[in-house]
Amino acid sequence: MIIVLKPKATKKEVDHIVERVKSLGLKPLISRGVERTIIGVIGDEDVLRVQPLEVIPGVEKVMPVLSPYKLVSREFKPADTIINVNGVKIGGGQKLVVMAGPCSVESYERLHEVAKKVKKSGATFLRGGAFKPRTSPYSFQGLGEEGLKYLCDIGKRVGLKVVTELMDVRDINLVERYSDVIQIGARNMQNFNLLKEVGLSKKPVLLKRGMSATIKEWLLSAEYILSTGNFNVMLCERGIRTFEDETRFTLDLTAVPVVKSLSHLPIVVDPSHGTGKWGLVGAMAKAGVAAGADGLIIEVHPKPEEALSDGAQSLLPERFATLMEEVRAVAKAVGRQA
Ligand code: PEP
Ligand code: MN
Repeated sequence: MIIVLKPKATKKEVDHIVERVKSLGLKPLISRGVERTIIGVIGDEDVLRVQPLEVIPGVEKVMPVLSPYKLVSREFKPADTIINVNGVKIGGGQKLVVMAGPCSVESYERLHEVAKKVKKSGATFLRGGAFKPRTSPYSFQGLGEEGLKYLCDIGKRVGLKVVTELMDVRDINLVERYSDVIQIGARNMQNFNLLKEVGLSKKPVLLKRGMSATIKEWLLSAEYILSTGNFNVMLCERGIRTFEDETRFTLDLTAVPVVKSLSHLPIVVDPSHGTGKWGLVGAMAKAGVAAGADGLIIEVHPKPEEALSDGAQSLLPERFATLMEEVRAVAKAVGRQA
């Protein structure tokens, strides 16, 4: 349920409403907009049917939220969320944000080389996994803390924000220490304990769509993070499983306008995992921008044939540079800055 306050509601009135909601055993979450304040109410809403809140001074109206997710919904917050990652803003029609780098952190030198190149081409984030969710236990599992240190050091040296995956609640302090954005991978989209834990973090979260998740399930996973207090969540469409086997996954670009209509959260498109083939990455990156994505996350590797993971979908730095030019042209054509 959402309590919409009158534009001139006083602080005393707001405090009183919050206390009243709490006394009913419900959890109030306040969202202060430019024009008015709204309070999302979590818990058994039936209580409100017998305890009308409309009569309390300062309340304009009380609305049920029809969607199963509340805090991530546009009903709860009509204006786009803009996430400020230490100065880089994402969402709400801000400049398109591009995150680029290797699938896995492999060595300091290689990461440094890629970082310098993607920065020169206009990326603002360095991506790279130190904890890798590999299908086979015998595949490269990542460098762990050493990899996180490389990311942090190189990100600072080169001037890029860092996004990296967290797979295990036990590593949250480590990943928080070395990154600017915590990535939750597709395979962990419904790891609810992990979601609740990053909900307690102060770091923004990039929540990838599970490969077999519906948009509703994905938004409910985001709801877990918001409901424990972290409103800085961006969603990432990275392809879903379909009967099609020409590509690694089917990049569901329809998700971009659908998510935009249902939610206020920013959305990023991952054309690398979405296709699995470097030759298809450019077309889908441009299509993602045309569809309204707030950002892109792209795998780039200086020697894809030697990559320890996802070489087949990694762009050479030179190809990434060309793609960035094309992406800027598409962004301009659809009225976006890039
Ligand atoms: C990744 O970004 O390297 C990754 C493993 O992505 P996903 O979780 O989407 O498969
Ligand atoms: Mn990868």
